[in-house]
Amino acid sequence: MHPAQKISKSRKRKRRSHHALSPIHYVRCAQCGSAKLPHAACTNCGFVNPQLAIKVGEEAEA
Ligand SMILES: [Zn+2]
Repeated sequence: MHPAQKISKSRKRKRRSHHALSPIHYVRCAQCGSAKLPHAACTNCGFVNPQLAIKVGEEAEA
């Protein structure tokens, strides 16, 4: 099966103008300075905010 009508270069390019991926946004961890996602616990030290930090790595297993 083939499409009944060819999509023009212009129409194809206009459609694909919205397909670009945006880069992942990182912020610095306030405690250890490593890159982390905003509103997420740091994967290096588990820091979320001064009142809350989750356990990561060997600490979590113990
Ligand atoms: Zn951290």
